[in-house]
Amino acid sequence: MHYVVIHELCHLIIRQHNKAFYSLLSELMPGWERWKLRLETNNPVASQIP
Ligand SMILES: [Zn+2]
Repeated sequence: MHYVVIHELCHLIIRQHNKAFYSLLSELMPGWERWKLRLETNNPVASQIP
């Protein structure tokens, strides 16, 4: 759930998925790709989280 929280936190600042969004995400949570991947592997429904 951690990744989702950080993801939503970033959306409070940037409301879309652009380069700035992912750059902010990387600053707050280095290696977030791994968390996202793990989340999607354990719960395929999570892959539908925008
Ligand atoms: Zn999002």
